Amino acid sequence: MSRTDETLLDLALSRATVDRSAHERARTGTIDAALADPGTRVLELREGTAPVLVPGRDRLALRAPRDRDVDASPWFLGRHEGVAYVAVRPGPGDGSPGVEAVEDVEWLSLREVGADLDDTEAGLLTTATALHGWHRGHQHCPRCGALTEVVLGGWVRRCPADGSEHYPRTDPAVIMAVVDPDHRLLLATGNAWPDGRVSVLAGFVEAGETMEAAVAREVREEVGVSVTDLAYRGNQPWPFPASLMLGFRARATTTDLVPDPAEIRSAAWYTRTELAERMVDGSRTLPSRVSIARLLIEEWFGGPLPTPREDSP
Ligand SMILES: [Zn+2]
Repeated sequence: MSRTDETLLDLALSRATVDRSAHERARTGTIDAALADPGTRVLELREGTAPVLVPGRDRLALRAPRDRDVDASPWFLGRHEGVAYVAVRPGPGDGSPGVEAVEDVEWLSLREVGADLDDTEAGLLTTATALHGWHRGHQHCPRCGALTEVVLGGWVRRCPADGSEHYPRTDPAVIMAVVDPDHRLLLATGNAWPDGRVSVLAGFVEAGETMEAAVAREVREEVGVSVTDLAYRGNQPWPFPASLMLGFRARATTTDLVPDPAEIRSAAWYTRTELAERMVDGSRTLPSRVSIARLLIEEWFGGPLPTPREDSP
């Protein structure tokens, strides 16, 4: 998929290469045929984590299909270069040996490995993690409360009582690098975060709202600042459990900070020099490179930020 130089590159979770091949989901037997093909690659999920090969921790431990997979909630993820990809969630009663029987693996989450996997595997784990979060939280019909059944290769849940169909949801959220007329960046610490952890502001798009209005509203609500000149910078799925992060840059027209105590513990404007110094002395930490927040911050900074000095306290 082509991306222009006008938007952020290298968003860790926006690199999917697998063709979702959605037309196959409705075909009877797609999953059975995929699981009968020894060339199919199977991704096992356990509580939202996936097996990753150690010591590298940059490749998924995908495996060939096994007989029990047909009972392990198989989801059809798509095809890439002729290979079908299926995700399964072995149940607690499934005593068959997992991938660790044949490989040296560690079970890790998308947050932990998303930036280190190659494009294809990052996309597979992003999609599988999103489906996992949806199935876990949406097992009952929102109309009548009946337990729904999984159909269409894991992409639809259907209510046996009233026939209604329910699809994986994605919740748009805006995230924005707010810069003042002196080129300082606004960074804040959320109420639930550890001391020193800072990031750009973010929030969900509300019902009936545009992305741009959500950016202006969130910045005003969280720190009392007005913004203008919004520029879209890129987006990536953030399936924890169901967000799509829409990245923006915005220019502040006011600089007095009035943090909303319900959400923000502290907020401040940083020059590039100040942020670099506080990264080096370890007094500030940023979100990891798997997040769009980190890329928005580093785009403002002009490159990768320095890491803490080894000898810092
Ligand atoms: Zn129902």
